Amino acid sequence: MTSVSRLFQLSGTCNNYPWGKRGHQSLAAQLCKKTPGTDFAINDDEYYSELWFGDYPDFPARDLETGQTLAELLKSNEEKLLGSYAVEKFGNNLPFLPKILSIAKALPLQIHPNKSLAAKLHEKDPEKFSDSNHKPEIAVALSRFELFAGWRELSQISPMFNIPSLRRFLPEESNTWNEKTLRNVVRGILKADEQTIQNIEKDLRQQSLEDIQKLGYPSSTFELIQRLQSQYSATDPGLLIAILCMNFFVLEPGEAIFIPTDGVHCYLSGDIVECMARSNNMLSGGLCPVADRDNVDLFSETLKIDSSTQADNLKLPAKPSKDGASGYTMVYQPPIGEFDLIRIDMPAGKDELIWNHKGPTVAIAISGEGVVLGDGKELAVKPGFIFFIAAATNTMIRADTALQIFAAVLR
Ligand SMILES: [Zn+2]
Repeated sequence: MTSVSRLFQLSGTCNNYPWGKRGHQSLAAQLCKKTPGTDFAINDDEYYSELWFGDYPDFPARDLETGQTLAELLKSNEEKLLGSYAVEKFGNNLPFLPKILSIAKALPLQIHPNKSLAAKLHEKDPEKFSDSNHKPEIAVALSRFELFAGWRELSQISPMFNIPSLRRFLPEESNTWNEKTLRNVVRGILKADEQTIQNIEKDLRQQSLEDIQKLGYPSSTFELIQRLQSQYSATDPGLLIAILCMNFFVLEPGEAIFIPTDGVHCYLSGDIVECMARSNNMLSGGLCPVADRDNVDLFSETLKIDSSTQADNLKLPAKPSKDGASGYTMVYQPPIGEFDLIRIDMPAGKDELIWNHKGPTVAIAISGEGVVLGDGKELAVKPGFIFFIAAATNTMIRADTALQIFAAVLR
């Protein structure tokens, strides 16, 4: 048996959820196709939503040379590839799951349950909830990225509920809103019948854009309502939660958002790098087919409503990283232990000596060409090429043309 290398190229797996971009418009598909030696081809009638390149059993990454799954390789070489720190803390899997998403229409309004709820759900229904882990996640924009995430200030939501059709969701005596008020409002709207939803939407259309903007709602509010109605149904209650209660963001390339466990979010459009704790659990409250909606009480009770779900705290700025010797490396550090996400932007002709981390690294090149050197090997770097780098491995990257790489790391 030959011993496994500390640096090797991976192939990823692209999936086809109907919210993905079509055919060649999908960056996820474009990047997936560039991995040499795979038979992945882009069909212009098909939707391509996500490129996964972790060790999760769904859509697994494989060693490009041998075809072996990354999960198998990690299990049989855990100390060498993951390092003792990662093994001790997270077992013989990657602690994180990286993806590229290409989003053409809204994903479900969703939360990813905390560890204790995930464990219960997994035990009860292992088919739907396929692991017992939590799933905090970060998303970095590669193009203009629109999303709803977290809650607007309560003082910005409450005036809207003076509209007659919305007032019914408030308790009689309530004047000031608190966390419980918002939770009850969400529960009430998600349980409302179709006629009620239609009445609210009719009332909303009668508001002037000027008045709505005065309350801090985006100038695109009416356009967003129309767009979401056309993507799902006019009577999808999740639409009203997003529009009335959530922050709307437009991120430019390089800007990032952190979604904590139980944090509400709904991605609308754009190409992004996403990285999360190794889990695939989701509860959905709407903006999906009716059959896919989860129990409203469970969804509403689980929602996180605190300072971590306020707009300012969701944005995650990139900071200069100590990893790169030449200053081409930035880091997104979410407040969790499972991973940091690194962004390397190198001009042509430059070298960057990077990391020697105590845990594993998975990196993907987004643009440019060059080479990566480590463990006595030199591998070509091109768009869509994905690499695994073992714990405690010195790595050098050389850019032949301007190069952009994202890497999930455990430090
Ligand atoms: Zn999510």
